[in-house]
Amino acid sequence: MANIGFIGLGTMGLPMAINLVKKGNVVYGLDLSEKAVKEFESNGGVAAVDIADLMSNAEVVFTMLPTGPHVISMYEAESGIIEHATSRHLLIDCSTSGVPSARKLHALGRAKGVRTLDAPVTGAVAGAEAATLTIMVGGDRDVFDCAKPILEQIGKVIIHAGAEGVGQAAKICNNMVAGINKIALSEAFVLAKKLGLDDKIFFDVASNGSAQSFSLTKTCPVPGLVPTAPSSRNYTNGFTTKLLLKDMLLAQEAAMEVGAGTVLGSAAAQLYQLCANAGHADRDSAIIYQYLLGK
Ligand code: NAD
Repeated sequence: MANIGFIGLGTMGLPMAINLVKKGNVVYGLDLSEKAVKEFESNGGVAAVDIADLMSNAEVVFTMLPTGPHVISMYEAESGIIEHATSRHLLIDCSTSGVPSARKLHALGRAKGVRTLDAPVTGAVAGAEAATLTIMVGGDRDVFDCAKPILEQIGKVIIHAGAEGVGQAAKICNNMVAGINKIALSEAFVLAKKLGLDDKIFFDVASNGSAQSFSLTKTCPVPGLVPTAPSSRNYTNGFTTKLLLKDMLLAQEAAMEVGAGTVLGSAAAQLYQLCANAGHADRDSAIIYQYLLGK
C-alpha cells in the first residue's frame, strides 16, 4: 500500500486511479473537471487541493494528461510538480507525451534529484477499467524495478522498453500501427458493404482470419459488432480522433528526425487530420469508418 498522487482523471486516468484505490492505496487525485473529481471521490479517492497538497501527501505521482506540453507545463509551472518534488518522490508519466517531452521530463527530474519514468499505456478504456493495460516504460532499470509492483496494479504486461524516452518510442510506434490498422479495417468494411457483404459476416471472417487485430476485436469501428467498443456507444468515451492524430503526428516528427520512411503512417495522419477537420475531433477515432462512408 502506498500514498499515490494521480493528476489527470480523464477517460483513462479515472479508471486507472480507481483501480489503485481498489488495491488499497490512498490515492490523491487532481483534475480540472469537477465532475471527474466527484466521480473519483465517490469511488474512494481523495481530492487534492492543488499540486502542493498532492505532492506533500504522495510519494508516487502519476500524470495522465492529454499531450506532452500539458505534462511539461504541469512539471515546470510555478508551484508545479518539480518545485515540490524531493528525492522521496517517484514520478511516472503515463500520458502519450512523445519522445522529446519525455526526455525533457527526465532532465527536469535529474536536475532536482528526483526519480522519473515515462510509462505510456496501451489497451484502451476497457484495459484501463480491467487493469489489464500493457505499460511500456523508459528510464533507469532500478527505478523501473521500484515502480513495477505499482504498475502491476493497473496493468497486466509491464515492459522495460529501455532508457529515458524509449517507453514513448514504443508507444508512438505501437499507435502508428493501430492508427493505420483502424483505417485499413474501415476501408475494408466500407468496401464489404458496397459489395453486398453483411457487416457481421465480414467481422466473423476477418476476426478468424489474417485480418484479425485488437482494432477489430476490441475497438471495432462498425457499431454493434463489439458491444464494449466505443463505436457501439456512439463513438463516445474512447480514444478521441484528436488524441490519435496527436500520436500519428508524434510518430511523423520522430520519423523525420531520424530519417525513417513511414509512408502509410504519413497518409494515415493526413486522413485523421481531415476527419478531425470534418468535425470529428472529439469523437472516438473509430469514427474514421463513418467518415470514409461519407458521413
Ligand atoms: P482525456 O482528455 O479524457 O483526459 C485528460 C484529463 O486531463 C482530463 O480529465 C482533463 O480535465 C485533465 N487535465 C488537462 N489539463 C489538466 C491540468 N492542467 N490539471 C489537471 N487536469 C488536467 O484523455 P485520455 O483519453 O484519458 O488520454 C490521456 C492520455 O493517455 C493521452 O496522452 C492519450 O493519448 C493517452 N491514451 C489514451 C487512450 C484512450 O483509449 N483514451 C489509450 C492509451 C493512451
